[in-house]
Amino acid sequence: MNILLILPYDRVYRYQGLISRIAPYMPLTLMTLAALVPEELHAEIELVDEGVQPPCNGQKRYDVVGITCLTSSAPRAYELAKFWREHGAFVVLGGAHVSMMSEEAARHADAIVVGPGETSWPQLLRDWRSGTPQKIYAAEYPEQLSSPFPKRNLQRKHAHFLAAPPVLVNRGCQNTCHYCSIPALYNRISVNRPIDEVIEDIKRLKAKNILLFASTLSADKAYASELFEALIPLRIKWSSADTIDVAEDRAYLDLMVRSGCEGLLIGFESFGQQSLNTVGKRCNQVQRYRESVQTLHQYGLTVLGCFMLGFDHDTPDMLYQMPQLVDNIGVDVARYAIVTPFPGTPLFRRLKQEGRIFTEDWSWYDSGHVVFRPQHMLPETLQQAYYDIWRATYRLPRVLTRVYTAASHRGMILAAGLGIRLYANKLRDHAYLDFLRTINSNPEIQRRNTLCELPLFRQRTERGTF
Ligand code: SF4
Repeated sequence: MNILLILPYDRVYRYQGLISRIAPYMPLTLMTLAALVPEELHAEIELVDEGVQPPCNGQKRYDVVGITCLTSSAPRAYELAKFWREHGAFVVLGGAHVSMMSEEAARHADAIVVGPGETSWPQLLRDWRSGTPQKIYAAEYPEQLSSPFPKRNLQRKHAHFLAAPPVLVNRGCQNTCHYCSIPALYNRISVNRPIDEVIEDIKRLKAKNILLFASTLSADKAYASELFEALIPLRIKWSSADTIDVAEDRAYLDLMVRSGCEGLLIGFESFGQQSLNTVGKRCNQVQRYRESVQTLHQYGLTVLGCFMLGFDHDTPDMLYQMPQLVDNIGVDVARYAIVTPFPGTPLFRRLKQEGRIFTEDWSWYDSGHVVFRPQHMLPETLQQAYYDIWRATYRLPRVLTRVYTAASHRGMILAAGLGIRLYANKLRDHAYLDFLRTINSNPEIQRRNTLCELPLFRQRTERGTF
């Protein structure tokens, strides 16, 4: 039995030369799906991560092709599904977008996996072997998350050199931020992986720097504290994602740092308290940002701050103040995203009801392109602000000031600042800006709800993908 597992590229995550191959975060999905293939099937498994590898040319025959996708990679996943079905494979689609848009996905595949794949994916493969595959495999999350050790040996050796390898800790989130797919995907529950599994996974990795993969690391502080205690003897360095209120608990922070924590990715999202309250991000208190970042710095932690542009209370003036506000609170590395109504979220339902979503071409749902009408500005104003704010944040004097004022890890902050500066300076999609200018004056494009007028879009489809 030959199995091919594919992670499709999208507009952000795609193969573009050396840096994009060695630096990005190494996704766990394919390696975990490979580990879930039942031993008794004696399958030969290949992985293609299109973010770091060129696509498969279709010369080899596969029995089963599994494709996992997010919303922005769904169109590419459907293209691949069509291609592999035409080449005689049994095609299975899974992933976050498939769980949210199962009817749509089912039209493109022989079978789909909705929800977690830990039990459904092996069952699907056994059914295929016995000649009785079903169309839909759906499962709920169990109370505890037991995930196999990923088959890391199948990952291409020359990719992801610079990225710390990830280790799964938990999935899901009990918070209800309206723009976030995670509560919808996991039914607002957070499930933890058993600590002995996490520790064994880390030991097998033999890496000194790792990424603890968690939606919100401190969602269950009792579990997290127990995990930190178990990490101390391993003497590793790690980073993860958390909410800013983690800075309120110094005893907890102390244990976290003693266990090897060096940095946290924090979703600040906005400097407008009204915006945060409206979208349900109630753990964020804007007036405490600066003090909280200072506390994290006192513990030697690097803070990667994430911010979103385009909430309903945002005005252009507020957005253009963001680079200065980011500097004021002392974040070490900043990242911006455009508010995006992902299918399945409360934000999607509301904007859809208000008639403000102007395209459902999912390939633009990459958090870098405006896909809805903002409340207080034109779509192109928001798009332009996104480019300008990235660039302003990574002007050389600002990069150097952040390095100078950093509490720790100055080399890493300098390297990240210079690398992101290159990215920010190249970040401008003229064709999309033209499209956004057009939609306000062209009712035909609005009516057809399509981006096919765009030269960029035409090029992509005319070029073909194989
Ligand atoms: S944005 Fe973060 S805190 Fe909010 S629901 Fe998503 S994972 Fe949870």
